[in-house]
Amino acid sequence: MSRMCPGKKDKVTFKKEISCDNLNEECLDRVCARCKDKKITVLDFNKHDVGTYEKWSTKKVEVMIKGEKKLCQKSVKEAIECEKQDIIQQLNQTLPNFLVHTKNIKHQYHAIDQIKKVLPLMKY
Ligand SMILES: [Zn+2]
Repeated sequence: MSRMCPGKKDKVTFKKEISCDNLNEECLDRVCARCKDKKITVLDFNKHDVGTYEKWSTKKVEVMIKGEKKLCQKSVKEAIECEKQDIIQQLNQTLPNFLVHTKNIKHQYHAIDQIKKVLPLMKY
């Protein structure tokens, strides 16, 4: 059994592998002709070996609030054990969502930068 857990560096390498170096919006939307079909290259492995990956999921948990039992939504990281071929399949399926998420982060940083530029010019 092995464990696949990407760190920050891995995410950068990951993005570079599936998109252009400059990573523009077309790349993130997977419509860029140069990178839309790029895939993660996987070294030769035994498809039926078992591996583990972690997945965020939402669960309803019972909590006590002021002596009363209440149902609460909680995000938890679940360890999922399956064949390595299924892990690769999961990875490919989540790719578009991951890139949209990356695009949103880019937009948010851009918006914050714009606000920072405008704020000093405002009169109170
Ligand atoms: Zn591209």
